[in-house]
This record gives sequence, C-alpha cells and structure tokens, in this order.
Amino acid sequence: MSDADLPPPPNLDRYVRQIRYPPLGAEGQARLAQSRVLVCGCGALGSMLANTLVRAGVGRVRIVDRDFVELNNLQRQFLFDEQDVAEQLPKAIAAALKLRKINSEVQVEPVVADVDHRNVEKLCEGVDAIVDGTDNFETRFLVNDVAVKHGIPWVYGGCLGAEGQTMTILPRQTPCLRCLMQECPPPGTMPTCDVAGVLGPIVGVIASLEAVEAIKILSGRPEAVSRHLTVVELWDNRIRQVDLGALREQVDCPTCKRGEFPWLDGSLGSHTAVLCGRNAVQLSHPGASVSLEHLARQLEGVGEVRRNPFLLRLKVGQHELTVFPDGRAIVGGTNDVATARTLYAKYIGH
Ligand SMILES: [Zn+2]
Repeated sequence: MSDADLPPPPNLDRYVRQIRYPPLGAEGQARLAQSRVLVCGCGALGSMLANTLVRAGVGRVRIVDRDFVELNNLQRQFLFDEQDVAEQLPKAIAAALKLRKINSEVQVEPVVADVDHRNVEKLCEGVDAIVDGTDNFETRFLVNDVAVKHGIPWVYGGCLGAEGQTMTILPRQTPCLRCLMQECPPPGTMPTCDVAGVLGPIVGVIASLEAVEAIKILSGRPEAVSRHLTVVELWDNRIRQVDLGALREQVDCPTCKRGEFPWLDGSLGSHTAVLCGRNAVQLSHPGASVSLEHLARQLEGVGEVRRNPFLLRLKVGQHELTVFPDGRAIVGGTNDVATARTLYAKYIGH
C-alpha cells in the first residue's frame, strides 16, 4: 500500500503530541492506525504494552493470556485494580474492558487461551508485530519459531528482580532469540518472578522499550529498530547494550539458517495430560533434567516444600506440585491444563 492510499487516522487531536514528533509524524500515525499487533501474555509487561499501544492508536490489538487477576499482581500490573481481583476476571478480559474506555477507536480483541503449538499460528494470523508479555522461555521459543517462519517482527522482553532485558527480532535481518540463546533454558534452571521477586519499575522500563520498538515497526520505521540486546539493572544502576550486528552471521542458527521450527511442530516443548479421576494434570518435558536440591533451595519461603531423592512436593494454596528429576510434574488440585502450565511456569520455571 502506498502512503497516498492510507486513510487519515480517525481523530488526530488525540494523537497530536506524538504526531508532532517528526520521526513519527502524520504518516507514521496513519500507518499505526492501519496496523495490528499481538500482545502475547498480559501480566506485568503485557498489560503495560497493551496500555501504551492502545493509547498510541495501533489499529487492532489482540491480547492473549491464560491467567486471571490476583491481588499479588497489582504491585506491577498497571492496568488492573482491586475490582478485577474481586471479580476474578481473566487478564485478557479485564484488560480489554479498561482499554476500550481508554481508546474506543482501537479494536481490542481479548483471547483467553494458553498459547501452544496448536493455536499460535492462528493467534498470529494477520498481525504486523508480536510483543512479548510472557513469563516463560518455552512460549518465547514458540513465538520465535512462528515469527521467523512467517516473517513477523517480534519484540522479546523479560524481567526478574530489578533487572530486565529486551531485543527486537526482524526475521531474516537481525538475530533471532535462538541465535542469542541457542537452546531454551531447561525446566527448573531459571528463577521466576514468583520465586525470586520483581520490582514494578523495571517492568515499566522494559515494557516502554518494547513498546517503542513496536511503534517503530508498526509506523513503518524498521530502520530505527535497535540492533542491540539491552539489559537494564535498576537497583545497581547499570544499563548495558550488547551489539548484535554480527551475531546472525556468526552462529549456525537452526531457526534462521535451516528453517527448523521444533517448538512450532511440537517436537520440543512440554506435553500435558489430564489425569482422569485424580483432579490433576501431568506435564512432561522430554529430555529434561531437574536438580531437586537446587529447586528446593529456590522454593524456600514460597510454599511448603518436601523432598526425598525421588521427588519434590510444593504446596501453594489449593494446589500441590510434585516434581520429578526428569522435569515431569503432576499438578494436583486442577483439571485445567492452562492452570497447570501457569503454575509450572511460575514456580518451576521454563
Ligand atoms: Zn536465529
């Protein structure tokens, strides 16, 4: 579509301050109004990303999340309030209700779903960019597969403690997540926010960095996209940028170079099964190995933890997670796969 074909944005007054910023301008605003984005995960990063992108006038914002709003979210999930907690609303729905009040010109499409290899391509259909609001690397590697396969730019971001990092992937131009990390961190090796904690301000910083990258892409300015991995640590006041310019040429990335998409075809990633009659769900991770001793240390103070040489048991609220050294877990107290995967991502980490 040429610039002349683009219709004017519906109400320019709303966006006048950002239109006055020359690199965006009226043309960039018109492109934003025509664009579509997927906000993948609507927790801390995702709710702030959705908020920023809806206010900026992105035409369509699809929000997918599998979780519901809880009291311990409010410290860092800027879109939600106590009423959402009381109503136990799914995050995608609570977000959409707020966002429509903020900007009724934007089409907000909430999807309450667990992103997996069966639905991810459908969720990404027709979007011009994907922004990362997930809380786990398994989903990020899945998103990376679908983004590279279909040539959709995506913005990776993550936070833990007072530290966060982000990078933008322009498929076939800049390094992808697998160029950077080679393999998805195995279950139980990476601390999670639910275990190690997280401060609200780092979420604001990383979500803002992600959002501006998305705005560059969606307004037709991909040349302005950062070619760095940016790491910010707010407590010790450190900001680090790693130049990724040569990385794509240096590594033999199976995703970029060989077109292999193992998370998307289901050969990597977790498998789940509802254990009929037991009110439990089993999650398995083929090829994984977990140190129960290390995991027990990580989970100190999180809930009631018991361990023997064969398994570790964590009791949190009404749920009980039994974890085995091969990464397999039985999540008791639910028949719902999405709930079980949420609990695994929160406390074991993957
Ligand atoms: Zn790659």
